Amino acid sequence: MEESVWFKKIENQIMVQNERLYKKDFKFYHVDTLIKLAKRVDSFSTDCATCKYLKPNIEEISENLYEYLKGDVISRKKYEKKLDEINDHIRKVHQIFPKQYNLSLYSFLGVAGGLIFGSLIAFLIDKNFVKQGLILGFAFGLIAGRIIGKIKDNSLKKEDRFLN
Ligand SMILES: [Zn+2]
Repeated sequence: MEESVWFKKIENQIMVQNERLYKKDFKFYHVDTLIKLAKRVDSFSTDCATCKYLKPNIEEISENLYEYLKGDVISRKKYEKKLDEINDHIRKVHQIFPKQYNLSLYSFLGVAGGLIFGSLIAFLIDKNFVKQGLILGFAFGLIAGRIIGKIKDNSLKKEDRFLN
């Protein structure tokens, strides 16, 4: 993906502010995600009105990043809210997902489904086997969920639809 002048300016600004932040803050507040989001928003902004509208927001966040993260709880919450807003749009409208999105999603769904299904089947067969049913349901659900999640993640990766 070609990097625009706008993006380079944003990235540079964030890195300058980052010098003043603690290393753990950079990780904790997902500042790297902000950079990745900026790149995507920039590339979609020629065709997407919302992305075009989000660009000044990103400029504002990157200019004031240090103030946001070094300030009080309210200003940190504001930062998180703004980041979420951008993330939501990129995920819902442009179908760009965080890394291992499907792996976590389907592992969770698999386990939840496995627990319900396993205990139900065991209950119907013999009430004394509900515990075993739960264990088996958990194991199979997790395995199935991980396999499906991995397959789906692989196709996202091929289509360059991970946030990176
Ligand atoms: Zn957009």
